[in-house]
Amino acid sequence: MREATRQAIGRTGAALLGLLTLASAVILGFTQADAAPSAEDQAAAIPVAVAARLVEYDSGARLTFDLSAPVEGRAFALADPDRIVVDVPEVNFQIDPAVGRPQPGRALGGIVKSFRFGLLGPGKSRIVIDLNGPARIERLSTVAIAKGAQAARLQIDLGRCEPAVFLQSVKEAEQAPPPAETPAPIDGAAPSGPPVIVLDPGHGGVDGGAYGPPGVVEKTLVYDFSDELRKKLEAEHRYKIVMTRKGDEFVSLGDRVRIARDANAALLISIHADSLPETADVSGATVYTLADRASDAEAARVAEHENAADKAAGLQQAPDDPGVADILFDLKRRESRVYAHMFSRGVIGEWRMAGRLNRNPERSAGFMVLKAPDFPSVLLELGYLSNPQDVKALTSPEWRDKATNALVAAIDHLFAAQTAPDPKAQAVAGAPAQPAAVALPAPQADDKSGH
Ligand SMILES: [Zn+2]
Repeated sequence: MREATRQAIGRTGAALLGLLTLASAVILGFTQADAAPSAEDQAAAIPVAVAARLVEYDSGARLTFDLSAPVEGRAFALADPDRIVVDVPEVNFQIDPAVGRPQPGRALGGIVKSFRFGLLGPGKSRIVIDLNGPARIERLSTVAIAKGAQAARLQIDLGRCEPAVFLQSVKEAEQAPPPAETPAPIDGAAPSGPPVIVLDPGHGGVDGGAYGPPGVVEKTLVYDFSDELRKKLEAEHRYKIVMTRKGDEFVSLGDRVRIARDANAALLISIHADSLPETADVSGATVYTLADRASDAEAARVAEHENAADKAAGLQQAPDDPGVADILFDLKRRESRVYAHMFSRGVIGEWRMAGRLNRNPERSAGFMVLKAPDFPSVLLELGYLSNPQDVKALTSPEWRDKATNALVAAIDHLFAAQTAPDPKAQAVAGAPAQPAAVALPAPQADDKSGH
């Protein structure tokens, strides 16, 4: 990244404004979240990005991030595939990652193929711009949104250039000295490395879970499902996979959460199958996320049933709630929940093409196994062992293949914004700590509902 492209904070980039008003300018994406960061965000001193937009014009493009506070970035070029990378101090991106992805039948732009953003490592965030053709960084600037305002825009201006110019900038970036080490994170965030995905097959050992027709037991069915999912994810070489049980063994709910936390989980997926013998026509998969209050009576019933797993195995004590009364922790918890909702919607979207969904597939309740505050978790009920069609599906290898593929796609989607596509780029931190552009719920103390 050259001095010519590294611009002082406060420059307005007026020369480019004229170009931006060209009639051909197209606003390709805009996401607006709550523009006023909460007191917790300010306390955490991590700038919040609330919107991103890409404007393309004939000779270039401008990618803008609206931030609660100015950040200074460092931009450089990478080849194969051709990218522009902008490194910034840690930013809390409250922006839907979809804003940076082309939609079916609609390219994002002429120069910019796609862009993504997220936590790179402790105290560091990164914006990666995938290019359709050679481009160079014309200006990287931070501009106050209004005079005297703390809120600022990070503007990345790109211009089309000859391939040789692009390659030269790649070479220069390779020769540039690495940036100074950033300080350690305040909350002891995950070490760098591939994202850790924890697969939690429900029940096991003495606790069989739900029973279907003879020979169909939840603990075996969900273990086989999880194991197939593990193999597929491992084959991608993008994640580290941890299983909470290694076979037909009993693991308490508290230990499942502990295993995930000790592994620095980026995501936990608890896998179960349900049974409702009185209403055998109820069928399909349901994705549950944690909530203090159950979304409906059915969700409350499922949480109560799953939370009783320890009791089924003769354990007395409920797992301790890992909640800590701390502002940063609370912020993390809220982020995790937003991410869990995003993933839940992703799973449902993919599942639609692979299998049957429950009539109301997205629910929430007070599941103990979902209570870790530091990473998103969801509980997936694959279907109902009391429904003949579901049993037929759940016990068929073809269905399992399709359903595990759906989950792999949802996981890839969730991590797409965070995971660098090639080994040249640094691996992302373990946790997808940045939520999407979803209004964060007001902080609430976890209650002890559902059990
Ligand atoms: Zn279960």
